Amino acid sequence: MPKQCQLCQGKAVLKRPKTGHLLCKECFFRAFEDEVHRTIVDNSIFSRGEVVAIGASGGKDSTVLAYVLKVLNERHDYGLKLVLLSIDEGITGYRDDSLETVKRNEKQYEMALKIVSYEELYGWTMDAIVKEVGLKNNCTFCGVFRRQALDRGALMLKVDKIVTGHNADDIAETILMNVLRGDIARLARCTSISTGTDGALPRLKPFKYTYEKEIVMYAYFKKLDYFSTECIYSPNAYRGYARAFLKDLEAVRATSIIDVIHSGECMAVRKEVKMPTQGTCRQCGYISSQELCKACVLLEGLNRGLPRLGIGKSSRVKKALSEAPAPSAQASSSANALDF
Ligand code: SF4
Ligand code: ZN
Repeated sequence: MPKQCQLCQGKAVLKRPKTGHLLCKECFFRAFEDEVHRTIVDNSIFSRGEVVAIGASGGKDSTVLAYVLKVLNERHDYGLKLVLLSIDEGITGYRDDSLETVKRNEKQYEMALKIVSYEELYGWTMDAIVKEVGLKNNCTFCGVFRRQALDRGALMLKVDKIVTGHNADDIAETILMNVLRGDIARLARCTSISTGTDGALPRLKPFKYTYEKEIVMYAYFKKLDYFSTECIYSPNAYRGYARAFLKDLEAVRATSIIDVIHSGECMAVRKEVKMPTQGTCRQCGYISSQELCKACVLLEGLNRGLPRLGIGKSSRVKKALSEAPAPSAQASSSANALDF
């Protein structure tokens, strides 16, 4: 006998990973969307009239996020203007293909799309950076550059907020990594649903409590157009261990992901954790707790042929920067040229 949907008594086609409920497609869609709506409302993520950039990679998370935000914006009349913002890291055979997906999403979801590239912002593609630094620290460069690139693209678009598709699994992984490293200052930032209230544009994660498995199910049953290949430069071994560990825990107990997030939230509210004070980078004006922001240090290293410069301790960086000859005009202007 076919199993019944526990909500409408129709024919169940799936078991929700988060709750174990047997549901039909329509009831799953509604439950998924209602949960995201609750997260948005309970955390006052948006205000009426705001322009919101969706960080769109063409992957499942950001594609589902764009689709669901469009649905919710219409259903609940949030009064938002939604736009897509993509970063082209310059990774041949990966990002060029995924950007084609975003360009299709632009038409499918009727949202304006802006693409900013590392090449135009920094004068370097990830392909060129990997040739220089190899496959060990490439994600450090990429992560720092992406963070700034999203802010810079959002400023060009004059948006009020940025939303990203970080899901509950991503956040639980980051919490585990920060706990394992003893990095309690970072723990506060990674558990928060909103960051960037310290000077950069507000950045929000409406999928903070949404399971990756459910995002995949939603995309599959809605037949959304997304790109599912891994980055060709993805070594990130440490995150890989945290991910595998979490998946093992989830197999034993479905609530493990949310439990880790709640534990992270409780640890993050400890008052005695000292947070770095924010200033601005003297070279490019981006927010930074040091004299030079991390992107400028990494860029100086690349342009001076010292690619490991920004990877080490900040005292070593200061010494190297004061000893090394001044960068060429071309090298330092790529970040400076941006209008803040
Ligand atoms: Fe960039 Fe590393 Fe992610 Fe590839 S895996 S897109 S190099 S951060
Ligand atoms: Zn800078």
